[in-house]
Amino acid sequence: MADHTGKHKNSKIDTSSISTTTLLSFVIFALFLVIVVWLLANFFLNSYFERTRAQEVMRTAEALEVQFVQDVTAFDSYAINTASTNGIYIQIDTSDSALIYDGTRTVQGANAFDSDVNFIKAKLNSDSSDVVTETRRDSTGPGARLIYASYIHDGNPDSVMCIIAPLYPDQVTLRILRNLLTYISVVVLLVSFLLAIALSMRLSAPIKALTRSATELSKGNYDVRFDGAGFTETKELARALNKASYEMEKTDFYQREIIANVSHDLKTPLTMIRSYAEKIIDITGDNPEKRNSDLNVIISETERLNRLVSDMLSVSNLQSNNVEMHMETFDLVEAAESVYDSFQVLASSEGFDINFHPCKPAYVVGDRTRLMQVMTNFVSNAVKYSGDNKYVDIRLNKSAKKVTFHCIDHGMGIPADEIGHVWDKYYRTSANHGRGIEGTGLGLAIVKGILNLHNAKYGVESEEGKGSDFWFEMETVRKPGAKKTDSNTLSMQAITEDTDKQKNG
Ligand code: ADP
Repeated sequence: MADHTGKHKNSKIDTSSISTTTLLSFVIFALFLVIVVWLLANFFLNSYFERTRAQEVMRTAEALEVQFVQDVTAFDSYAINTASTNGIYIQIDTSDSALIYDGTRTVQGANAFDSDVNFIKAKLNSDSSDVVTETRRDSTGPGARLIYASYIHDGNPDSVMCIIAPLYPDQVTLRILRNLLTYISVVVLLVSFLLAIALSMRLSAPIKALTRSATELSKGNYDVRFDGAGFTETKELARALNKASYEMEKTDFYQREIIANVSHDLKTPLTMIRSYAEKIIDITGDNPEKRNSDLNVIISETERLNRLVSDMLSVSNLQSNNVEMHMETFDLVEAAESVYDSFQVLASSEGFDINFHPCKPAYVVGDRTRLMQVMTNFVSNAVKYSGDNKYVDIRLNKSAKKVTFHCIDHGMGIPADEIGHVWDKYYRTSANHGRGIEGTGLGLAIVKGILNLHNAKYGVESEEGKGSDFWFEMETVRKPGAKKTDSNTLSMQAITEDTDKQKNG
């Protein structure tokens, strides 16, 4: 792993890496399995075998009795078969005969079980129940065995069935079983080790690829693409990273643009101020008329600087939501009319034809001053970018619960591929490059911030060379003091009251 200095750390095993964790988990799981198998083989196999054997003997005895009572002629072959398949010794004693079936394959010879039979019969005699069992483990006999005796209900009170079942499989079978378990354990260990390596490689491959791409991105290479092939999660991560890298590229681009624009915007008035101040010292200082005219240039450039800096502050405050809103219910049409009035002087002095098309009063809840700033910005842009066609329309439309403000000009318009960017801060379209139109590219960013704070819809329809229609839409409320209220009015009033409360304390 490389640290930030680019040097490689000493190659110790990284226990928190996906590969090591997967490998370790699998190995631990495999070891656990092997231990379980080993314990089974060495400790639990015998007791498990003993329990199962006892249950089997009981079942076999019941089946034998049924067969003996129901069909004694077929009993012989049935008992021979049962004794050999189960590996047990069966002895049926009736008052006149003794039937013996030995399937144990013991090497002890005939009568090997005589003492067991006598012992269990004596126990059955002295016991009050119909069935008795005993486990004998003495080393002199044919190994540990379960001995069973019960009365047969064939009408003869002396009929007794004895069964002797060796409790453990013979040593050969046991050895085979143990060997088998060992082989299984080795195979399980090997397979899980290989599986762990394969899985950890598959898991870490897309992550390593993503890390490589991220390192490239951190060096400023925005062309890099993230590929999370393999898993849904890594694919999603790759998609998110691709989006992030695209956004970073855009932000980086705008930041460069911003720095270029801002330095240019700051530099121009500063150069002007400096050269006019020098001019006053060197040339016009003694001529009051010329000096005053130069000082006026200095003042207007300072005002331009001031405007630029306040706009920058407004945008940054709006973006960080660090603004105090003075919410009130007011008539948007009346506010739009004041904006229209403020442009009348300009209209008459510069030959603009600004028309106002109001609708019926439309009450909205909002910050009146800021919404007037929005409308003023739209109209001043319309004037700035209207070129030779000096005809501007201010139009208000009212529908059921909405009012829309439009500012329509017939000027240079906005190129289709740039229309989405006009709301970005410091963005100025290519159409006004070289035309010497003064601007900071901050006006619409401020408008966007204010309208977002009002949850208002806004937009622009524009065609290059034909003009633009900048608009915003707000919900209307009832006129303050009107009697009937509906839920909408109530909620909007609640907002107003809420804001008033916030204002008061
Ligand atoms: P400024 O006007 O100070 O440059 P704005 O944020 O108000 O900044 O506008 C951003 C850009 O959007 C402008 O530079 C201009 O290119 C474009 N624009 C805004 N209003 C109009 C309009 N009415 N007609 C054409 N272009 C416009």
